[in-house]
Amino acid sequence: MNGHAERVHMKLPDEIARVEIPLTFFSVPVNVWILRGERVVLIDTGPRTDPSRERLVRGLEDLSLSFDDVSDVIVTHHHIDHSGLLAELAARGARGWCHEDDLEATADVPGSIERKMAGYRSLALGWGVPDDLVAKLCGYLEKFGELGGVTPLERMRPIRGAEERLDIPGYGFRAIHVPGHSEGQVVIHDEERNILFSADHVLERVTPNPNIYTPPYRGRTNGLEDYKHSLERLRSLPRDILVCPGHGAPFRGIHARIDTILEHHEERLGEILRLLDRGHGHTVLDVARKVWPLLGAGDVGLACREVHGHLAILEQSRAVSCTSERGAWVWRVA
Ligand SMILES: [Zn+2]
Repeated sequence: MNGHAERVHMKLPDEIARVEIPLTFFSVPVNVWILRGERVVLIDTGPRTDPSRERLVRGLEDLSLSFDDVSDVIVTHHHIDHSGLLAELAARGARGWCHEDDLEATADVPGSIERKMAGYRSLALGWGVPDDLVAKLCGYLEKFGELGGVTPLERMRPIRGAEERLDIPGYGFRAIHVPGHSEGQVVIHDEERNILFSADHVLERVTPNPNIYTPPYRGRTNGLEDYKHSLERLRSLPRDILVCPGHGAPFRGIHARIDTILEHHEERLGEILRLLDRGHGHTVLDVARKVWPLLGAGDVGLACREVHGHLAILEQSRAVSCTSERGAWVWRVA
């Protein structure tokens, strides 16, 4: 293997359908996977918007189904493109599954975003983002709160621990907890069909963006470290497994893709270290603008998360040091 995933797009088994839901805030649509076995199961939902709901309704209708037929919805992580319509499906009788570490954020999307807002604000200030841009970023985030609903906890079935077999009649799903992109990110392994629903943990063309946990998760803030460990955990899967991702078409070659993603992060560490001017202090935003000179306001949050994760790893290996100056972290070559 030369580090590139094989671009072999596979036909899905008849009982599995993919509905692509366009997103207004992200150029790549999100996938909802519809499984028709003993029960009708969805993996992810799309955001709570009119076009997204219409697209999902149409996708179900094409299979002679409606929201009322869905018995279980597995939400791979709490982000609104994956969880937004859960509340509506649950109100029509579906049971919602998600990892216990994403439970609060999945069941109460607007409330959880509101509760995290102060943390996001101080994180952005720590990155060295100016006040007016912080206000803008928080504004984007507030809008996300409208793209998800509230699901009563009694309709939810939390997935616990590092791995759990899901008790859904007719399906032999194993959920594997792979924190990093979100605290409670899971991938779903269908051993019988040799399929992995990889959510946002492994994508074919996009390098998933690891989180900076706000508030800290399991005593740490850097999701990038978790993310890399979580990728390593998937190396035990069969080499020929069909990967059905959260965004993009199904593909094979997960082992090569894992290598490529890990190489990307290694290269980025070196790149960031080279971009730091010796003797000068840099905020996370300074570094993000060096990596992406044309960085637009809408991408500042994602870019800073990525840079912050790498700087934290460089700090751990003592290649850089960090001090706090007037509310912002300042990084220097050690
Ligand atoms: Zn996503």
